[in-house]
Amino acid sequence: MSADFYKPMRLNEIDSSLQEEIKKVCDINVELCMECGKCTGGCSNAHIFDYTPRKIVQLVKLGAEKTLLSMDALWTCVSCQLCVDRCPSQINIPHIMDYIREKAHRQGVKTRRINVELFHDLMLNSIRKTGRVAEAPLMLNFNLRSRQYMKDAVLGGRMFLKGKLSPFSPVVKDIDHVRRLFKKIADNREG
Ligand code: SF4
Ligand code: SF4
Repeated sequence: MSADFYKPMRLNEIDSSLQEEIKKVCDINVELCMECGKCTGGCSNAHIFDYTPRKIVQLVKLGAEKTLLSMDALWTCVSCQLCVDRCPSQINIPHIMDYIREKAHRQGVKTRRINVELFHDLMLNSIRKTGRVAEAPLMLNFNLRSRQYMKDAVLGGRMFLKGKLSPFSPVVKDIDHVRRLFKKIADNREG
């Protein structure tokens, strides 16, 4: 955590460009946050976040973009939406996280968690190809690419024997729709 963050700030010194960007791109107004902390109280993963959901909203308000782009919480939010359900101002924190995560990825900001980006890329590839997360092929691919050849092998073997894991990855009926979504996202990025 940067010590600079605790320097007293004057209102006219705050950079509001990130706040405005999030309002424009994500249609989220963080000014509506009343700092009640209900988001943090209900977050399923706040205990492992470096910045809690309430603090993340405050960091956006303060324009602390560098801190947000490199925070670990970006990669441990599971998009469960509990914080959105609990927020009296309906501030969509996972949507803010998605936006900042993508920005961090584009800018090549390194994560502190080894292989987390590899896992995200493989998961998205699985969805792009089959329309779903094919767990067994995904884990096999991940273990090979991250050179953890025997990781979860015993557990995976047991689950396979009990019929809980399938080596196949059936494709969803309307896979063209999924592919169109990916194309639209890629076109929006380029545009
Ligand atoms: S629940 Fe909503 S209003 Fe309350 S601190 Fe969190 S973001 Fe702000
Ligand atoms: S969506 Fe993310 S930030 Fe919100 S409650 Fe779930 S894990 Fe926490």
